[in-house]
Amino acid sequence: MPTGSTLHELRLRWPNDVEFGFDAGAVCLELLTTGGVGRYAAYDSVPTPADFTAWLARSRLGVAAAKSTVDDMPVLSRLRTAMWDIAQAQLAGRPHPHAAVAELNSVAAAPSLVPALSGNARAWAKPTAAQALSTIARDAVELFGSPAVSRLRECSADNCQLVFVDLSRPGQRRWCSMDRCGNRAKQRARRR
Ligand SMILES: [Zn+2]
Repeated sequence: MPTGSTLHELRLRWPNDVEFGFDAGAVCLELLTTGGVGRYAAYDSVPTPADFTAWLARSRLGVAAAKSTVDDMPVLSRLRTAMWDIAQAQLAGRPHPHAAVAELNSVAAAPSLVPALSGNARAWAKPTAAQALSTIARDAVELFGSPAVSRLRECSADNCQLVFVDLSRPGQRRWCSMDRCGNRAKQRARRR
C-alpha cells in the first residue's frame, strides 16, 4: 500500500473558488495538486522553499520542521513533472514514458524519511525536505507499480483535472470532492 493510505483531506482553494477538501488517496498524488506542470505552470502553489516546507506539514506525510532549501526546488519540479506524465499516461492507457520513469526512479533512489515512534504516534527522525521528496517518489513507485493503479481516476467533471486513487471498497468514486464537483453535478442534474 502507498505511504499513508489512510484518509487524509488536503484543504484546497483554487482561483475564484471556495475552499474544498480533497482526498487524493496517496501523498504522491497530493503533490500533483500543487500545480506547476505544463499548462499549470502559472499555478505553482509551492514556488519557494518556505512554501514547500509548509506544504510538507499539511500533506499526509505530516513532516513538520523539515526545512526546505533552494537545492530541493529543481528536484521537486522534476519529480512532479515525472509523476504527472506517468499519471496522464496511465489514465490514457498508454505505457509509462521512459524518461519520466527514469526521473522518478532517480529521486526514489535518494535516502528517504526515517520513521520513528514518538510516544504512541509515528513521527520522522530528523526529517529533511530532500528525504521527503524521496519518500514521495517511493510512494509513486508503489502506486504506479501495484494493482492499486487500476483505481487511479481523474475527476469526472469536464473542467477538473484532479487525480486521485479511489480506495473506497465499491470503487465508484467519480469526483475530486463532493463539496465541489460532486455537488455541482448534482445541482445540474436537479435542474434538468
Ligand atoms: Zn473535480
